[in-house]
Amino acid sequence: MPKQNSVSRHIVLTSHPSRSGPKPIAINWGAADPMQRGPVIATLTKSAHRNVIGTHSGGYAVYRALAVASGSLQSDHIADLTNTSPTERIGPYPSWSVADKIVSLDPYGAIASEVFASYYEQGYDIRPTIAITKAHINMPELQEAIAKGRLQVDGKIMKPGGDLVVTKAAIEPVWYLPGLAKRFNITEGELRRALFEQTGGMFPELVTRSDLEVFLPPIGGLTVYIVGDLEAIADPNKPLAVRVHDECNGSDVFGSDICTCRPYLVHGIEVCVQTAQEGGAGVIVYCRKEGRALGEVTKFLVYNARKRQEGGDRADAYFERTECVAGVQDMRFQELMPDVLHWLGITRIDRMVSMSNMKFDAITQSGIEIVERIAIPDDLIPQDARVEIEAKKAAGYFTTGDVLDANSLADVKGRGLE
Ligand SMILES: [Zn+2]
Repeated sequence: MPKQNSVSRHIVLTSHPSRSGPKPIAINWGAADPMQRGPVIATLTKSAHRNVIGTHSGGYAVYRALAVASGSLQSDHIADLTNTSPTERIGPYPSWSVADKIVSLDPYGAIASEVFASYYEQGYDIRPTIAITKAHINMPELQEAIAKGRLQVDGKIMKPGGDLVVTKAAIEPVWYLPGLAKRFNITEGELRRALFEQTGGMFPELVTRSDLEVFLPPIGGLTVYIVGDLEAIADPNKPLAVRVHDECNGSDVFGSDICTCRPYLVHGIEVCVQTAQEGGAGVIVYCRKEGRALGEVTKFLVYNARKRQEGGDRADAYFERTECVAGVQDMRFQELMPDVLHWLGITRIDRMVSMSNMKFDAITQSGIEIVERIAIPDDLIPQDARVEIEAKKAAGYFTTGDVLDANSLADVKGRGLE
């Protein structure tokens, strides 16, 4: 017999503004003073306080629902935030108070309990949307780079044994809908309607509550790994290396050889360490956009389609197979990606470890200078990933090497399904 939840069984609909009682605290997105900007209140413990659509933890909100439904979590649990404050201070930076610069995360998300202390005293349940901590990471490829003399142990950034000291920040998406619509050059109404419909009507407030302009979408967020001096990130006089990496679980974690994701990620970390050891900093942004934001089911369907097509897996048909299954080649929308770089106060990137033109264009168009682009070294590309890399280069991705013509592209073949 499951435990009965102690909270009222009465369902409170929030699809229309409350006619009585005080209005929720306004959010003035882009205001320089956090108290003027207002806190993001997405918790469900006091529904009258909510000033956004959606709730915390992205897709994990559904697991929270199961925990509440099964009686293992009290729905009115309020987080005890003792000792959870950031280990390192990031910002505020001038970019935080330009409404259009950051529209997909809350720049005050890490320091909410500090800047909104007076609201906590009044009983508001405000949860951080960003958490910052420190860690040591260790990857076999980095140990190999030390053994081969490409990386040095300095005892501070890179410890003996290959432990790399990092500061890491987990960031939940917080979308300012008017700013997001502007970024995509569509109306806010069009954006709200598509979000409402494509989530199966999950958030009615998207279409009924135009007074609520901020949405916490049920998607994965991102993690930032910082190597070296944090102060150097926003200092244009210090060198900065950046890799923006979109999640690829199959390669990143399991070492699949069909793509270059993990080798590229590790190369990015290596460049970050070198840059940090020169007195600068390195930043890895890890975005939860599995399979070009199409998801792993679509990705594996595409793998099969690629390897079973006539003539086998070929570089000249690489993008086409994705489009057949998904309807598009890519759904990552790099337009929102530079927000995290502006949150970090970045104005110039000395070494951008990426071949992607979409990422390059999004970053430079958002006002950040990129000095040098770094492609993955040839000897780090797995044999079966030749199809991906040659197709990308032929499609115009950045490279310092040769680009194949249509005939040679058809000759680049991957392994069959074995
Ligand atoms: Zn991959």
